[in-house]
Amino acid sequence: MMIPDLQIDLNVAWRQLTSRDASADFLYGVATTGVFCRPNCKSRLPLRANTRFFPNAADARAAGFRACLRCKPEAPEQPSAVARMCAYLERRIDRPVRLAELGKLAGISPFTAQRIFKQAMGATPSQYQRALRANALRTELREGLRAGATTVTDAVYEAGYGSSSRAYEPAPLGMTPGRFLAGGRGETLRFAIAQASEDTQFGWLIVASTERGICWIALGDSERELDSALRAEFPAAAIAADESLAGTLATVLNRIGGGASGCDLPLDLRGTAFQLRVWKALQQIPRGETRSYSQLAAEMGSPTATRAVARACATNRVAVLVPCHRVVGASGSLTGYRWGLDRKRQLLASEGALR
Ligand SMILES: [Zn+2]
Repeated sequence: MMIPDLQIDLNVAWRQLTSRDASADFLYGVATTGVFCRPNCKSRLPLRANTRFFPNAADARAAGFRACLRCKPEAPEQPSAVARMCAYLERRIDRPVRLAELGKLAGISPFTAQRIFKQAMGATPSQYQRALRANALRTELREGLRAGATTVTDAVYEAGYGSSSRAYEPAPLGMTPGRFLAGGRGETLRFAIAQASEDTQFGWLIVASTERGICWIALGDSERELDSALRAEFPAAAIAADESLAGTLATVLNRIGGGASGCDLPLDLRGTAFQLRVWKALQQIPRGETRSYSQLAAEMGSPTATRAVARACATNRVAVLVPCHRVVGASGSLTGYRWGLDRKRQLLASEGALR
């Protein structure tokens, strides 16, 4: 039996619930207690007759249920199964990792591991590994050749390839800086510029978008500065002003002014698989909170990657919406910000994150 508008198959959901499947994408409520839970909650399994399924917390609340204190179904997810799989793959780029290993790691079947990984990352685990090796190779080559020591063959092995021929496998689409590295060749970017409210002294804001979504938000002191920064970032792209982005611009300005963050604007983020993970983790820092680089690395399941996390934050292309301003030094100092420390301070203050 299906509930058509919820898209939850009750028999499948019940089976996932009884096996406490952490990857199941529903919440369930227990009619006798009035509490709703994540599918993998440690609480006692309810009777099927008393169980209600919900696609999200808002629907569960609307039906009169309150959140379980144990599994906290409204809190942001703990380092998810996918994050743990990514960290596992990153530590093993020198050998193939079988899906069964990944499944075991997350307590799910190999098939489910593949499915949820692909859903979250847009690539299979083996494609992800291939992209990691390609990135490691580029780094090895750059650093090795600069030092004058490494031969290409050494670099290939250092980067985790078993043989040099495999270094020439194509990296999967969407996982490399790809077209953005080439300065946006073949892309058409539309942009709009506006001034933030004058009493905030926040300055000017530019939003640029591809067909897929926002690819660039930057802050600056003048229209001219922002216009030339956009052209410097995407020198090979076709760039055109577009009034129809005014609504998007207004939404971002509203958010800078401390407005609600409810609206989800489509983003077109491109970078290495690791950068994409960091940018995603940034989006999960709740408004009003901050993280240190090492906390963020730990939340991503890559506790040793603090420096790489800091680099990924520094190369964020979408200010405000990918809130790299919410990352501060371990001592609470503001550290750096691509668009100026004063603006970082203002953003954090407007979010109530400065004590
Ligand atoms: Zn619970």
